[in-house]
Amino acid sequence: MTVTEKEVSRQILQLSGANANLCIRCGRCTAACPVAGQMDQKPHRFASLLLHGQADTLLRSNSIWLCLSCMACSERCPRGVDPARLVEGVRQYAVRPRGMAHFSPDQVPDVVDDEMPQQALMAALRKYRK
Ligand code: SF4
Ligand code: SF4
Repeated sequence: MTVTEKEVSRQILQLSGANANLCIRCGRCTAACPVAGQMDQKPHRFASLLLHGQADTLLRSNSIWLCLSCMACSERCPRGVDPARLVEGVRQYAVRPRGMAHFSPDQVPDVVDDEMPQQALMAALRKYRK
């Protein structure tokens, strides 16, 4: 049975545990995000896209792989939406068919740069080992 995009969006919202309905699209989450400039879908878009059943746009976005799980967006959100959870929910949905890993441990040496900050490694551990 094919799962509709609307149903995928509903499942991600449930998986995230965030309350997207509270979002007022103020953009504070995007303003606080250290990597928003590189994201093709900014953090403030996650709630509305999921509520409108447009999960595919987020599942195809580079945003879910760029997110550092720093929680700055959630700290700045005036409505308690917890947008970092929405990003994490989309990411979790994306990696599940891949056995909960975006890449396997033996690929790590190929993707880790010598200059990579420790924070990025810790964020990756949080993302890929849940
Ligand atoms: S800060 Fe909160 S309320 Fe504002 S756009 Fe982001 S998620 Fe929505
Ligand atoms: S948790 Fe992700 S989306 Fe939120 S501010 Fe940090 S990097 Fe940006």
